[in-house]
Amino acid sequence: MIAVLFMLDANQPAWAVACLIAGAVSVLQGIAINMLFKAGAEVTRLLKKSNGLKFSGEISQPVIRVVADYVCSVCGASANVDAQTKCYKCGARFEPGSIKGKTESSS
Ligand SMILES: [Zn+2]
Repeated sequence: MIAVLFMLDANQPAWAVACLIAGAVSVLQGIAINMLFKAGAEVTRLLKKSNGLKFSGEISQPVIRVVADYVCSVCGASANVDAQTKCYKCGARFEPGSIKGKTESSS
């Protein structure tokens, strides 16, 4: 990279650009090779696991988020009981601690 600056000073823009491109290509190659080897290690781990052998490292897994998803018993709209106390659709109030919604006929 310092050589690139020297070349820019010496009015050799073509060589400077060539060096920049070469640098960028080598960086991209490094990233690609790193990804390939990671994938290869993953495949090796999966094969070892499927054959009942010991393996080092961890098998990557998707992060599973547990979302409490309930359905309003009055209108059938999906509702997150943890986040809301009322049904957004029909206005039925959810009792705390109970899964089932309950209608409120007042007002
Ligand atoms: Zn509802």
